[in-house]
Amino acid sequence: MSYEVVMGLEVHVEMSTESKLFCSCSAKFGAEQNENVCPACSGMPGFPAIVNKRAIELGIAAGLVTNCKIASVMSFDKKNYFYPDLPTGYQITQFFAPICTNGWVELESGKRITLKQIHIEEDAGKLVHESRTRKTLVDFNRASVPLIEIVSNPDFRTADEVNEYLEKLRLLLSFAGISDCKMQEGSMRCDINLSVREMGNEVLGTRTEMKNMNSLKAITRAIEYESQRHIDALETGSEKLIQETRRWDDDVGMSYSMREKEEAADYRYFPNPELMPVVIDEAWIEAVRAELPEPAHEKCERMINELCLPEYDSKIISGSQNLSRIFDDTYKYFDKAKDVSNWILGELLAIAKDTDTDDDDISVDAVKFATVIRLVDEGKINRSVGKKVLLKVFEDDIDPEVYIEENSLGMVSDTGLLESAIKEVLTENEKSVAEYRGGSQKVFGFLVGQVMKKTAGKADPRSVNELLKKML
Ligand code: ZN
Ligand code: MN
Repeated sequence: MSYEVVMGLEVHVEMSTESKLFCSCSAKFGAEQNENVCPACSGMPGFPAIVNKRAIELGIAAGLVTNCKIASVMSFDKKNYFYPDLPTGYQITQFFAPICTNGWVELESGKRITLKQIHIEEDAGKLVHESRTRKTLVDFNRASVPLIEIVSNPDFRTADEVNEYLEKLRLLLSFAGISDCKMQEGSMRCDINLSVREMGNEVLGTRTEMKNMNSLKAITRAIEYESQRHIDALETGSEKLIQETRRWDDDVGMSYSMREKEEAADYRYFPNPELMPVVIDEAWIEAVRAELPEPAHEKCERMINELCLPEYDSKIISGSQNLSRIFDDTYKYFDKAKDVSNWILGELLAIAKDTDTDDDDISVDAVKFATVIRLVDEGKINRSVGKKVLLKVFEDDIDPEVYIEENSLGMVSDTGLLESAIKEVLTENEKSVAEYRGGSQKVFGFLVGQVMKKTAGKADPRSVNELLKKML
């Protein structure tokens, strides 16, 4: 018997707003526990909610980049449940009139993953389990931070499709400035609804939901495990599948039952009487559309077609909102696109790797970066000195020209100086010289290295090559 896996995704994305959804507390990640908390977001009675306009604009933007219909009127509802990280006893979300409906995201194959809706909602707090005191504490920093939840239809058939979709979403949303979409920091999390049916059967099987998945690798493993569990159950009757919520334990490589799945009715959704419906007119939508930056795929095409960059470079740079921004800013001050791209993919990413910096967190002054590239291009410094200077720009924000002057790092291409350095190297390395003259090409590189060393890495490598060949 052959089976088909059917999946739908609910993706929660934290929006990059300054403040929370219904109060003016900071929504930034990484504060001290319970630092960003006020009576409104900690659920004290009698404190009114006021909607963050920016969150609605980012919600509209999310709908625009995923081809959704934007609602002309949206409203907020209460989803009632009890859990210690939810101080009010209800989550403010959108049930009856979500901000966006009926969108799609296209995969490389041309297949469209259709979206049922995108709604805005507030995040809950976070439980902190202390093993020392065996107590559980609550951190409300995240309570009421604005989220969008992107709900797809059950259009996925493979883990690869799920991965590609999440990667596409990350690009669309991060380029539009809606979220940084960092799965490792929890600003993008995904619930997977999965069921299995016999190939050709139109009726969906019993579905289970795995919640809060936050790494692509774990998602792939979880899908493999869970679909096999379903198939085994169908084939052998080893267990009875029930509609339930399950927890994926990535260390063990298994999913565990958490609770039987609630139906919408269990939450007793009702319109939030404290929040008026919000009217979204065409002018507002168009204003948001006008502010949308160039999306990743268009940037990639432009880099290839207009800037004549290789597809490889274009894909890597346009695959990160931050690298794209660095490219654009630097290119403004040094307009040889291929040089800028080489420096980003070569030296800058190497520095990021060496200093354990995430691509998305690299921050470098564009004017200074462009200056380093220009000085190498003009032959004022050689490339390896250039990389050292760039590291200094990256770490200490030094001024490249001043730094090169002060440390006399300028390139040595003065023939006299180079010749005397080469002479010294030749007398110090008689054995290698003899080997070279005996026909060994290998030692040539070694001798070049010795000359570079003698000039503290400042020699112009091209001149060294030429002179050395002549003098040997
Ligand atoms: Zn607050
Ligand atoms: Mn949700």
